[in-house]
Amino acid sequence: MDTKKCPCGEQMIHSTNQGGVREGRVKVWYEYAVQRCLACGHVDPDNDAQDAALEWAQLELTQKLAEVKRKKDIRDARWNWPADYYLAIRHRLNLTQLQMGCVIGGGQSQIVRYESGATTPALATTKLYYLLDKNPHLLGSVQDPE
Ligand SMILES: [Zn+2]
Repeated sequence: MDTKKCPCGEQMIHSTNQGGVREGRVKVWYEYAVQRCLACGHVDPDNDAQDAALEWAQLELTQKLAEVKRKKDIRDARWNWPADYYLAIRHRLNLTQLQMGCVIGGGQSQIVRYESGATTPALATTKLYYLLDKNPHLLGSVQDPE
């Protein structure tokens, strides 16, 4: 593709412009060919190249969003527990609600809310339940003296 003359009369050069598409925190950059005048700064885009680059970027964004969703679904499936899991783990650890509340934090009332499903524990809390369930010998290292 030959370069054109700018409206100002100077010869334009081949160059690129950048664009970006985003959704939430996911972003895709793309570049497309333009002709640029170094004298006055006028930019003349190649519309077909710009459209193709934008189309590619939107496809790439769709794929990235699908990957983000897939990972979130895996995380949710693993850590979004029904309330009775919390009750079952506390029973396996042989703790009262009051004792569990001292280990996890928030006191007995918080444990009641977890076990009834009134409150969804923070991810870190659920992971602490998980770790204690798999490693009950560690309970003593996070339990305060009575
Ligand atoms: Zn110009």
